[in-house]
Amino acid sequence: MINFETFFKVSYGLYLVTAKYKDTKAGYVANTVFQVTSNPPKFGISCNKDNFSAEIIKKSGAFAFSVLGEQASTGLIGDFGYRSSREIDKFKGVNFFIGETGSPVVLDSSLAWFDCKVTETFDVGSHLLFIGEAIASDLVKKEIKPLTYNYYREVMKGFSPKNAPTYVDKALIQENLPLITSENELWQCQLCHFTYESEKGDPISGIAPGTKFADLPDDWTCPICGADKSLFERD
Ligand code: FE
Repeated sequence: MINFETFFKVSYGLYLVTAKYKDTKAGYVANTVFQVTSNPPKFGISCNKDNFSAEIIKKSGAFAFSVLGEQASTGLIGDFGYRSSREIDKFKGVNFFIGETGSPVVLDSSLAWFDCKVTETFDVGSHLLFIGEAIASDLVKKEIKPLTYNYYREVMKGFSPKNAPTYVDKALIQENLPLITSENELWQCQLCHFTYESEKGDPISGIAPGTKFADLPDDWTCPICGADKSLFERD
């Protein structure tokens, strides 16, 4: 028998994986980035076959990744983690440069980056496992702590999107789901599935406990993905 809560005990960092083929750039937020060898230094990334980025990495034979810090912008995580490069230009307004492999290297919200050339690709069913040799890397900010998947889940209340290798269906886990009462309104972000609980407010944005959804300021956005109020639906 599989207890799906065990899956949350496996720890990860959070990364921005990016690639470019001709004029098309793509990128996504990944927790499955891991070093597989030291000499030469190679990294593995697991990318859903439906992701636009998988297509771009296959064609370009290269990818870059940036290590996200704890102060990572929710707008950046929202755009790269929950939207498709097929629909929006995720790089608009983002500080990046083109690395040696031709991949766009994002500097915003990043502590460090790696530029990698794909050396092996494995088909693992729903995902492609790309192995890439790092040919360049550098630090961006030294003083910020790397964002861990645990911090993202526990503190920022974020979730893995459906295409992530570590996605777990909520129905399979017995989480302490908040109760809907006349005092406690629950509103769910349709983009990242963050739930706004009126009893708790939103401490990240300075919204006091007890604030009803209708009383949130018009410019309030989802603390996880930056979606505006119109993307919320009441549970
Ligand atoms: Fe959201």
